[in-house]
Amino acid sequence: MSGNDDLKALIRTIPDFPTQGIAFRDITTLLLDAEGFAKSIDRLAALASGDIDLVAAIEARGFVFGAAVAKALGVGLVLVRKPGKLPGGKRSVDYALEYGSDSLEMHDDAIRGDQNVLLIDDLIATGGTACAALGMLREAGARVTQALFVVNLPDLGGAERLEAEGIMVGSLVEFEGE
Ligand code: AMP
Repeated sequence: MSGNDDLKALIRTIPDFPTQGIAFRDITTLLLDAEGFAKSIDRLAALASGDIDLVAAIEARGFVFGAAVAKALGVGLVLVRKPGKLPGGKRSVDYALEYGSDSLEMHDDAIRGDQNVLLIDDLIATGGTACAALGMLREAGARVTQALFVVNLPDLGGAERLEAEGIMVGSLVEFEGE
């Protein structure tokens, strides 16, 4: 039994979404539960270590948790977005998916000096998304040492990929398999 089994029970699994064989870990059912949502934010914020200047959150479900954790920590929020959404000068990073590639963008002037940035997303699977965001944040001058997720899928190795980049990885719940 882990201390977060109450939260794990609120995350719904949808088989074969978006494609055959994927067990989609659906956090929308956690968000619907006021107490569960509040506890998930409190527990993510409690995992944050050191002096944090900014939270960076990955679109879209990362925004939900990242914004609330930023509020809990009393810091600002950087949005790491899908392409074509940001109006100002921006930098971008391309990264490989299982089939094809994708990109992320952030505003070029979002990081001021060498700020300590905490990276947040809802879930880490292979770590491709988080590693891409990490690379872009570091290129922008951010000091990133920690990443937090509601869900870790340890069998896919994403946490190890981030740890190899010098990142402390924290998560609330783990699910076996993909
Ligand atoms: P990855 O880049 O492989 O670590 O995938 C992480 C991103 O894809 C996160 O933004 C997740 O929201 C989403 N994702 C990947 N696999 C799943 C899954 N099994 N259930 C829900 N979301 C997933």
